[in-house]
Amino acid sequence: MAGRVAGKKAFVTGAAQGLGAAIAWALAEEGAKVALADVNFVGAEKLAAEINQAHGANTAAAYELDVTDEEQWKRALEAANAAMGGISALVNNAGISGGRGNIEELELDNFRRVMSVNVDSVFLGAKHALKYMRENQPGSIVNISSIAGLIASHNTPAYNASKAAVWLLSKNIALHCAKQKLDIRSNSIHPTFIDTPILDPLRQVFGKDEAEAKLSRQVPLGRIGKPEDIAAAALYLVSDESGFMTGAEIKVDGGISAM
Ligand code: NAD
Repeated sequence: MAGRVAGKKAFVTGAAQGLGAAIAWALAEEGAKVALADVNFVGAEKLAAEINQAHGANTAAAYELDVTDEEQWKRALEAANAAMGGISALVNNAGISGGRGNIEELELDNFRRVMSVNVDSVFLGAKHALKYMRENQPGSIVNISSIAGLIASHNTPAYNASKAAVWLLSKNIALHCAKQKLDIRSNSIHPTFIDTPILDPLRQVFGKDEAEAKLSRQVPLGRIGKPEDIAAAALYLVSDESGFMTGAEIKVDGGISAM
């Protein structure tokens, strides 16, 4: 089958909706098999059925996975490896924004929860997927950080800290793989505000139009991003087109970090 990622076997977390779903669609459209892992198993199953309808049976399958749970990671990866006949790409996308509140307000439990979902996930995913990926080279690990991992704001301590951790953990994984002489790359993507359900809490506070206008005013290109904007970057990183790129970060932020 032709396609930019034909023959790739990709494991995507948080794939039931939002960026994960858009990334899964983009990979499937370009010839990859996709394992859709999410704590929302029903949502992942629904998407798998839609992708299979569009791109043929066995293009996609759903796996129940809470990315903070090591045993679930082992089970889901083993099952996806068996079903797809290998794993050559891991997209660590699942993440939460967590409660707002400045450093004096945010509860420790909340901080730990955000760190666990956003960072333990990348650690566990890479730790356990490499066993399969080393058998399916060339491979690519794509970690969805955020522009908030590079630029702080005053009231998102957990999100800032967690996404900064994802940024450097991606480089650590890249150097480990290179040192092991594996043709497995690891890079991070740093989106700004993208139109997904993660923005719903803000929409509830200000109303949809005002919330999106508020966010758009902060972006030099004058709009929030589309999930496809991020899927395009992920597709490039999963494909062999980015074969000499590892330990790098791609900012897809409408210019916000240029200011
Ligand atoms: P979303 O809330 O629309 O989707 C997140 C998905 O992750 C959901 O399907 C959810 O069920 C799943 N998920 C949540 N916790 C999980 C867990 N413990 N285990 C497994 N799955 C879990 O969010 P999104 O906007 O698509 O965000 C995806 C990634 O992109 C996140 O890492 C987020 O931080 C990052 N990001 C998003 C934006 C944005 O504005 N949308 C900007 C920068 C970075």
